[in-house]
Amino acid sequence: MFQIQNYINGKLVDPAGNTCIDNYNPSIGAVYSRTPDSDERDIEAAVEAATRAFPYWSTKPAQERARYLLRISDLIEGNLDRLAQAESVDNGKPVSLARSVDIPRAAGNFRFFATAIQHFASEAHAMEDTAINYTLRPPIGVVGCISPWNLPLYLFTWKIAPALAAGNCVVGKPSEITPMTAYLLSELCIEAGLPDGVLNIVHGLGQKTGSAISMHPGIPVISFTGGTRTGATIAATAAPLFKKLSLELGGKNPNIVFADCRYEEMLQTSLLSSFSNQGEICLCGSRIFIERSLYETFRNDFVEQTKQLTVGDPLSETSRLGAVVSKPHMDKILSYIELAREEGGTILCGGRQVQVEGRCRDGWFVAPTVIEGLSHTCRTNQEEIFGPVVTLIPFDTEEEVVAYANSTPYGLAASLWTENLTRAHRMAGRLQSGIIWINCWMLRDLRTPFGGMKQSGVGREGGFEALRFFTEPKNVCIKM
Ligand code: NDP
Repeated sequence: MFQIQNYINGKLVDPAGNTCIDNYNPSIGAVYSRTPDSDERDIEAAVEAATRAFPYWSTKPAQERARYLLRISDLIEGNLDRLAQAESVDNGKPVSLARSVDIPRAAGNFRFFATAIQHFASEAHAMEDTAINYTLRPPIGVVGCISPWNLPLYLFTWKIAPALAAGNCVVGKPSEITPMTAYLLSELCIEAGLPDGVLNIVHGLGQKTGSAISMHPGIPVISFTGGTRTGATIAATAAPLFKKLSLELGGKNPNIVFADCRYEEMLQTSLLSSFSNQGEICLCGSRIFIERSLYETFRNDFVEQTKQLTVGDPLSETSRLGAVVSKPHMDKILSYIELAREEGGTILCGGRQVQVEGRCRDGWFVAPTVIEGLSHTCRTNQEEIFGPVVTLIPFDTEEEVVAYANSTPYGLAASLWTENLTRAHRMAGRLQSGIIWINCWMLRDLRTPFGGMKQSGVGREGGFEALRFFTEPKNVCIKM
């Protein structure tokens, strides 16, 4: 059985404790590889390697660091099919999605930050004839990057690339549920000749390997993407150590549809925002609010089209939804559907596990599910499900829908469909979300600030926000 290894100090190595965790292929419901069950000794070795590499890496001219990152980007692109297949097998997502979104974006992350660092500048503040202040933005040191399983390589590289570009060294931990493409990335970093210790990838469980990162005194910065509860645990550990923290957490995003929208475009995009990646994207719109005059039309069309989405073998080009990531996650999604029933919801379609024939008969598949008849305050509409489950709720006025949309503890992303420009701007100001998409969804410009309000996170990723996060502003004041 294939054995994943850690990448520490430029080498592929087994974990200190020599123990491993089973890694499942969710589409067949079986173990297909093993991943290191690393502990604090492996994190210690990674921190030592990164600390040794830091003086060298951080003082390299930005153009030279960029050259390495561009080489890695090229290698990811050159291995597109292999990486997409690996991502699909490891996570359960359709290979077509991995090939068109996950892997190109991972390559794009390295390319974007390789060039961004060459345009990154710091500020100066002149005090007329008295003094001049200028700001230095040196890299901080060893950075911890912890990422989740839903967009494995995409989100892992979204952290690593800016951290490295800014001149830091990294100790990264991908989710133990989807470690494969991070492992393949370590092979590509070796091929790219990335200097030893600059990037270290340590695999293992969150509560062991992940918490060893958040507790380590030699890691002053943590960039984390994952669940809100895990974010709270990391924050509680890191705060007394005064670590700098970026937390990208959960969401319960509203998708708001006014009757004056461009209907067909809204309908097709809403299918994507509801069910892409089996609904396992933090940006998916899981609560759809529809203006009452359009409600019935929308409900009928949306349910009709949802029923036509093919759930099946992720390696088949025709599958629109693949497997959900794990058995416990499937059980969690199904338990939320049960809760929706108990709360008085009507399941309009889906609402069950799907038995796929052939190779994938033992896999973990859930039918795309549409529910109506629930209040915006019930648990189904307040808690993150993170699966192919959406609810439909009619509304009458703008005030009402803003209150519904803002009623959860989360505030990551919102979509809004209207041709009324004034209303669009007005609502963009009132919705409590870090990202507002008007007449679109997941249209991303990597220069923009990315992140959530309320319990969806602290800090912003993306563009110069990320480079600011991964550097330490230092003011120098010179008296004239
Ligand atoms: P988790 O919070 O369970 O895990 C995220 C990462 O943290 C994993 O690598 C995990 O390791 C690790 N981890 C778990 N416990 C600890 C700990 N005590 N200390 C340090 N690290 C730890 O999230 P999921 O992987 O389940 O991902 C789904 C969640 O991520 C959803 O809530 C989703 O909304 C959110 N998310 C947010 C995004 C955003 O940009 N805001 C984007 C994508 C997802 P392991 O898996 O090995 O346990």
